[in-house]
Amino acid sequence: MKRRKFIQTLSVLPLSGVGMMSLSELGQLTSKFEDTKAMPVLFFGHGSPMNAIEENEFTKGWKNAVKDIPVPKAILCISAHWETRGVRITAMERPETIHDFGGFPQALFDVQYPAPGSREYAELTRSAITSTDVALDQSWGLDHGCWSVLRKIYPGADIPVLQMSLNVNQSPDWHFQLGKELMVLRKKGVLIVGSGNIVHNLGRLNWQSPEVAFDWAAEANNGLKQLIQNNQFDRLTMYKSMETPYQLAIPTAEHYLPLLYVLALKEKSENVHVFNDKIVMGSIAMTSFKIS
Ligand code: ZN
Repeated sequence: MKRRKFIQTLSVLPLSGVGMMSLSELGQLTSKFEDTKAMPVLFFGHGSPMNAIEENEFTKGWKNAVKDIPVPKAILCISAHWETRGVRITAMERPETIHDFGGFPQALFDVQYPAPGSREYAELTRSAITSTDVALDQSWGLDHGCWSVLRKIYPGADIPVLQMSLNVNQSPDWHFQLGKELMVLRKKGVLIVGSGNIVHNLGRLNWQSPEVAFDWAAEANNGLKQLIQNNQFDRLTMYKSMETPYQLAIPTAEHYLPLLYVLALKEKSENVHVFNDKIVMGSIAMTSFKIS
């Protein structure tokens, strides 16, 4: 273990008993954070890491989605690119910018997103989750699912950012139910962001006609949007039993699951606004959603 990492690990140890805190201690922790109006919740289709260094219709859509919302006190990002056994939340003071991809220009590897972390908000997030154990993490950082979008919407990198991992051992419905537990954070000024792609099949990218969507991709994108707009979230958690276009659109769960966390946080009175509704390279939907 690197010396710095070892010191970070030691520094978080005194807080490791929080999982067993009493209700009154939990109340004290929660009341330390000022109440706010419920923050919107966002799902970003992140697509290619190149979006992080390009200015295009998608990055414009991302920026537009946050232009009217209050400055968050912290951002909790659930990214497709952090899968673990069990649930982990980053709790380091200075999360590293992780370049978790290969074969891209140096300019992309040079990007840093030096947003601070926050142990306090990591503790708050952990205290909100009662259905499962949550580990505070000192080893991850910010992966490109998170920073490629955040550097466009909050270029100042001055808002604390946490990531929460995807537990690979659990079902889609489990992820949806876990998402519901994060509701209290919305009212503490935390912007919850899911980052993935609702149609994501890298094995079938269309290199010949990148502007043309495959029929199955368009069908799945439209069908998923419809289910979202109709609040049929139970069907969305059962996507594995849906027709062939959905199986091609969601060959693996990780880019889809962040959507379920976001939808789980929708209140009945709220609307889902769709933006960046477009398929690129045949098999990736940039389709994004804002709940407010
Ligand atoms: Zn991705």
